Amino acid sequence: MQRFEMIQTLLGQMLGQIDDIILLADDQRHITYMNDSAVKAFGYPRDMLIGQQTRILYASNDEFERQGTRQFRTDALPPREGRVIRYRRQDGSFFYGETLGGPIKDPSSDNTFMFGLIRDVSRRVTAEHTLHRLHAITSSRQLSFNDRIDELLKLGCAHFGLPIGIFSRITDGDYVVQRACHPEDLLAPGLSFSLSDTYCDHVYKADSVQAFHHVASSEIRNHPCYSNFNLEAYIGAPVIVDGERYGTFNFSSPDPVKPFTSQDIELVRLIALWAGHEVARANDINALKEAHQALEKVAITDPLTGLYNRRHAQKVLEESITALSTSQVDQPLCVALLDFDHFKKINDNYGHDAGDLALQQLGVLAEDILLPGDTLARWGGEEFLAILPNSLLSDSATRINTLRQRMKESVVEHAGQRLPLSLSIGLTCLAPSERATREQLIARADEAMYAAKEDGRNCLRMV
Ligand code: GH3
Ligand code: MG
Ligand code: MG
Repeated sequence: MQRFEMIQTLLGQMLGQIDDIILLADDQRHITYMNDSAVKAFGYPRDMLIGQQTRILYASNDEFERQGTRQFRTDALPPREGRVIRYRRQDGSFFYGETLGGPIKDPSSDNTFMFGLIRDVSRRVTAEHTLHRLHAITSSRQLSFNDRIDELLKLGCAHFGLPIGIFSRITDGDYVVQRACHPEDLLAPGLSFSLSDTYCDHVYKADSVQAFHHVASSEIRNHPCYSNFNLEAYIGAPVIVDGERYGTFNFSSPDPVKPFTSQDIELVRLIALWAGHEVARANDINALKEAHQALEKVAITDPLTGLYNRRHAQKVLEESITALSTSQVDQPLCVALLDFDHFKKINDNYGHDAGDLALQQLGVLAEDILLPGDTLARWGGEEFLAILPNSLLSDSATRINTLRQRMKESVVEHAGQRLPLSLSIGLTCLAPSERATREQLIARADEAMYAAKEDGRNCLRMV
């Protein structure tokens, strides 16, 4: 008997020293024993729990009932593996405990007791939740670049329990905030610091994740960041974009926190890695957009003059006719064909390159004379089409005639000789009440242009 009591005392001491939570309850699940770790984990005074049903420890009643039918039943089989249960502390906070246990029989009294062994796995469970969330953010197609980065910042802040999150860009020793999470919104994008004044300096020097849970008691307590910003906790990782260092993803707090775990280190590395992918993807999308725009421009531009090409002119003309026929504009649509006079001779006398210069000259002059809504395009060879929508015939005639005059006056030289340049122009106009096709309008302008040729060239005629 003495020996039995001794073993009991020893067992009591042993269980008291174990980090895991150990609970013993009667067959009605009223607590009869709890080790020191249990007292610490649940936060209740021991006396308050002894005699209480274990229901009080569960985050949900349903879970308590389920565990009663699964494990904590007098005829239950010994458990094979632990189950993660959400428990509630006295202060209302929660933790996740991997729970093993079941019935044990006291041979001396034949009474059945419920034995429970609980290991706090909150960090693992929250890391899993965070990874899950990271996956959801990074695979969402709805979010914009900024939205994704902001979600990553919020995720990190929530996971590490740190109120400040920053995505920075670092160039030439300058640390510039790109996006940030701050309880008082004090970190606007564009705000910049010297890299050497930030904890990210350490990340850049080490080229790896750095974490300080309590700067005051760490080797970096003399760092200027500590005296400047009073940040006690920091975890940050380098962001790499296409193999090059871009900046950092970091989280911090004015208050110290519990020591960071290797999981935390891995998680901040993952978040920063993903931020790098996001930047690369955004860069690719922008490059693609620019290439697309450049391609679109090439597709509608005449390479020699830089003016629009015939295809684009046809489209603009079609749209202008539609706008007129659907009463989107009040004034007529005017169309002019401009043809260089005796251009063959220019080429013959001065060379093809000189002819090219003359064609380019029209674009230069038009820039000053035509209005922003007007379109001038190379219609083919040495013939150009001007589309002047929503413009009175008299105004259009004035603009186009000015172009003719300026061409006549312009000085384009080749080998010291001035080219004799002039234009014959045919102008026509479609009133809002009138209907005509694109081809009909062009034919009218063409007719007017030939009339100008007939009348001795270097003039404007209207049909
Ligand atoms: P007209 O006054 O009756 O219009 O006489 P023209 O000589 O201008 O008319 P024609 O249609 O006989 O000749 C047009 C010339 O324009 C022929 C062609 O070689 C030249 N031309 C067409 N495209 C280009 C070009 O891109 N560059 C140069 N330099 N010449 C061109
Ligand atoms: Mg000609
Ligand atoms: Mg011609």
